[in-house]
Amino acid sequence: MNKESENERQGATSAVPQVRQNESGTLAPDAYPARTRPTPRARVQSMKEYHPPLGSRDSLRLDFNENTVACSPKVREVLGAISARSLTRYPEREPVEAFIAAHFGLAPAKVALTNGIDEAIHVLFGAFLEAGDELLLPVPTYTMYEVYASATDAQVVTVPAADDLKFPFERLLAAITPRTKIIAIANPNSPSGSAATRSQLIEIAARAPHAVLLVDEAYFHFHGETVMDLIGAVPNLFVARTFSKVYGLAGLRLGLLAGPVELMHWVKRVLSPYSVNALALACVPPALEDAAYIDWYVGEVLAARAEFEAALDQAGIRRWPSEANFVLTEIGAQHKEFTRHMSAAGVLVRDRSSDPGCDGRVRITIGTREQMRRAAAALNLVLAALHMKGGAL
Ligand code: PMP
Repeated sequence: MNKESENERQGATSAVPQVRQNESGTLAPDAYPARTRPTPRARVQSMKEYHPPLGSRDSLRLDFNENTVACSPKVREVLGAISARSLTRYPEREPVEAFIAAHFGLAPAKVALTNGIDEAIHVLFGAFLEAGDELLLPVPTYTMYEVYASATDAQVVTVPAADDLKFPFERLLAAITPRTKIIAIANPNSPSGSAATRSQLIEIAARAPHAVLLVDEAYFHFHGETVMDLIGAVPNLFVARTFSKVYGLAGLRLGLLAGPVELMHWVKRVLSPYSVNALALACVPPALEDAAYIDWYVGEVLAARAEFEAALDQAGIRRWPSEANFVLTEIGAQHKEFTRHMSAAGVLVRDRSSDPGCDGRVRITIGTREQMRRAAAALNLVLAALHMKGGAL
């Protein structure tokens, strides 16, 4: 070893703090001074925290926009028939990706199954966002966009909706810059329930050709409009779908990301080959094929939504028009008590007060008509107990 590298070696050794060990070889309790502990990246330390308020949820679950009944019986059958032997194998995603691609009329290279849309967001942001980039978000919107963006070095640029909570199309266009790298739009949006039009989405993609446009269609079935058919034709468009909502499989964690081959190639490089487990993969064909079940559930929710909206109107509770399986309501200053009282009455609802521009607003998932009649009765009692308007449901 020459003198220079020997010095370097000694310098490096002396820079490593020594840790005291007990005779048994374990570390003494005070052995690790704080400064010697490993630290995560600065970005991770400043990451936005998100702890979904799940708790015990045995009541009527109108807080997470899930299917409030069950998955298709055909999916249940497939799950029940899964053998212990088949679970010994690593999950094979490609055949199921080929199946789902065919279902949507896409080439398999344009789709990736993910561990829920959340993983699609995480991976897409991880693949594209770096220092100097901007993530453009109309707000209020789905919380996890900001959470995953906060783990990257990109800046989040938010475009607030007006009081009507409609999609802020013109302002979003005006906020596009050469630094915009991803524009994420939940369509329909949560918690507002409002939607962007197809022509608005096409124009946004065209006005930001240097950016990825992610259209998150988690609530597609309740709205009925999609841009999935434009995958590949619009070169910067990605579409995400989930099995957590209408399909009733939130517990399995299953999502779909579709995008142009050239860009999807990079996403697939970042994606874990095994993040979608074998049970979830087995459920894809029966879930997609049982259209009758999906039609039934969507029909039930849309009928229940109309009834529940009428009940809210009658009670004098302001609400925003919704294209999804939830309704955002204006409860006002007593939003915390309201949410607590509803929970005590056996109905879980979601206080969205901490969302931008949503102070005093509570989101209520729509289930079946029978469930929503129960919810309306509980709402009526709670409004009366809190001496709020309403009480006439
Ligand atoms: N996107 C939106 C707009 C959502 O509201 C949600 C869940 N509430 C998700 C994505 C997450 O979907 P997944 O369960 O597939 O991760």
